[in-house]
Amino acid sequence: MKDSFGRTIDYLRVSVTDRCNFRCVYCMPEDGYPVSPKDELLTFEEMSRLIHIAADLGMTKVRLTGGEPLIRKDLSMLVANIRKHPAISDLSCTTNAHLLGEKAAELKAAGLDRVNISLDTLREDKFVEIARRGSLRRVMDGIEEAMRVGLNPIKINCVLMKGVNDDEVVDFARWTLREDVHVRFIEVMPIRWNLDETDPMDAMSALSGDRKLFRLRIQEDVGMLSDAQMRRMVVPFSVAKERIEHELGPMTSFEIPTNGPAHTYRLANAKGTVGFISQISWDLCERCNRLRLTADGQLRPCLMSDGEVDLRTPLRDGASDDEIRSVFLNVVANKPERHYLAEGQKVMGRGMSQIGG
Ligand code: SAM
Ligand code: SF4
Repeated sequence: MKDSFGRTIDYLRVSVTDRCNFRCVYCMPEDGYPVSPKDELLTFEEMSRLIHIAADLGMTKVRLTGGEPLIRKDLSMLVANIRKHPAISDLSCTTNAHLLGEKAAELKAAGLDRVNISLDTLREDKFVEIARRGSLRRVMDGIEEAMRVGLNPIKINCVLMKGVNDDEVVDFARWTLREDVHVRFIEVMPIRWNLDETDPMDAMSALSGDRKLFRLRIQEDVGMLSDAQMRRMVVPFSVAKERIEHELGPMTSFEIPTNGPAHTYRLANAKGTVGFISQISWDLCERCNRLRLTADGQLRPCLMSDGEVDLRTPLRDGASDDEIRSVFLNVVANKPERHYLAEGQKVMGRGMSQIGG
């Protein structure tokens, strides 16, 4: 499928749930977002049908996401169903890895190719402040198990935030020297406009250098980082790259087949790679090849623009495959050229966990 700007659309991100067992400060309020009633979430049969139709139309890559995809029961059944379509050459999943230790083997056996794991810190005290649920130990166990069962290449997505985890870039990069992990630093995105700042405050406390005292300050009525705070937390990748190279030596450009939009490098003699992904300062839109299907059955052509088209209603009203195909084709034809975040665009609608990041 080609959109009206000549981009090939061959990648479908499927959110399997809008629920999550974490409350990452850049993603959700402490109390979470209101979740869809269960009967509004697509069943696995409905998802499989839509994914197969999308694959008939030319989608070759599918990524399962959420919310936290691993909290959806029997996810491996969906994986096995998607795997049956011969056109799907890359089937992956984005997860916070908290449940990966117990589920990696069955997902691999069902046909999952690989996982992207979200991990923003290697320090337990920061983990508690950022994810606000779960434990770093379990996440690390999940990563180990994913390596053991061969969900390769294993990518570690780290949302980089000034003053929060930018002092850990070297530790993350050092990990790639020891193990075949692909660390990608992601620019924090003001994904949901949620506060007019009357009293701007820094998200980090001014507490002393004692590592144990790391605290994040979040305005109570918002319950998560505000749009304005996130804009102030963006770390230029040149700074992160310089810091890594200063400590660990020069990195050379290194592309791997499933790189997607990352600009990827490798340290000398490293087993893994270090990548940088920016949605705001480097214009990814030109190369965007994605559509998103939300857990409640909305087809969304752009993460950063509020438009969605309802697929659940026609699906449940008995639409034919041809009718559903034409919804896909229409959404592709109307995919926006780009987002306008750099110009101050505010995404007013749903949060990342509700859309499927
Ligand atoms: N729960 C799964 C996880 O965390 O991997 C999948 C869903 S999560 C919404 C997908 C990705 O979105 C994660 O890697 C997370 O770090 C990223 N994300 C969420 N909010 C973000 C933000 N404001 N800026 C940048 N990345 C964000
Ligand atoms: Fe949950 Fe992923 Fe959002 Fe964190 S980033 S709150 S793990 S959906």
